[in-house]
Amino acid sequence: MISSSYRGRFAPSPTGPLHLGSLVTALASYVDARSHHGTWIVRIEDVDAIRCRPEFTQQILTTLTSYRLISDEPVRLQSEHSATYETYLTKLKQTAHAFPCNCTRQSLQAFSGLHPQICQSNIERPHSWRLKINREQYQYQDLIQGDMFFSDDLDGNHPVLKRKDGYFSYQLAVVVDDHLQGITHLVRGADLIETTAQQLHLYRLFGWQAPAIGHIPLVVNQAAEKISKQNHAKAILNGDLTTLKRALSYLEINADKASNIEEALSLAIQQWQPQRLAQKTTTVIAPEDLHF
Ligand code: GLU
Repeated sequence: MISSSYRGRFAPSPTGPLHLGSLVTALASYVDARSHHGTWIVRIEDVDAIRCRPEFTQQILTTLTSYRLISDEPVRLQSEHSATYETYLTKLKQTAHAFPCNCTRQSLQAFSGLHPQICQSNIERPHSWRLKINREQYQYQDLIQGDMFFSDDLDGNHPVLKRKDGYFSYQLAVVVDDHLQGITHLVRGADLIETTAQQLHLYRLFGWQAPAIGHIPLVVNQAAEKISKQNHAKAILNGDLTTLKRALSYLEINADKASNIEEALSLAIQQWQPQRLAQKTTTVIAPEDLHF
């Protein structure tokens, strides 16, 4: 029963089917929302039409449904909201917090791909839009990782807001959507910790209240790499109780007694104690869970 103002979300990018690591993230956000009697929604982060494919969107939604992870509200597709992101980019341009940039990947090689200086760019030539950032320090209390402090994370880089090819960046779209969708809690993988300072910066510029944020340990392979399609993570089976129990075990939940998916989810909600995952940014996947 939804009875609180909590609003959480799972926001996958459809660059491949769900694998065990992404199921763990989906479950963490779902279980956290339900243990707070909150709303849980799914948003498809497909702003980057080059890397994202509609067939993966369908596949992801089918797999989530097979695990009874069903959005409480219509699924938002970021690819349908470019005009909204343009509006917010315009606000940043008007307040001189965004600047055009003609730099190329090659020209930034000397800075390891970062963009440390505000460049002299010609708006007539192909350009991206970047976020102007001065020396800023950010601190926030991560729901799982504890006190987080970014001393110079924002120094030495100006993240892209809109690419030269016209696609908006994850950073801009995620902040705009979380705000517009009234998200109060973000529970997501620890690979996104680094992006948090830039997102807090955008919240500050727009004058919005940032959600509470918690980063669960990322499921990695033996080589400490995020498991993904590129390193052969298997797409998970649909509606498979054993897979669900394995995924829950990475969240310190024992659902062995469950005889179906609903029971496993309700055990998960009862047992959920995110503090058990505290201050751990990775969990190595058991070899039997990653079949090459
Ligand atoms: N779309 C992002 C991803 O799939 C997650 C965004 C977020 O949770 O903030 O990695």
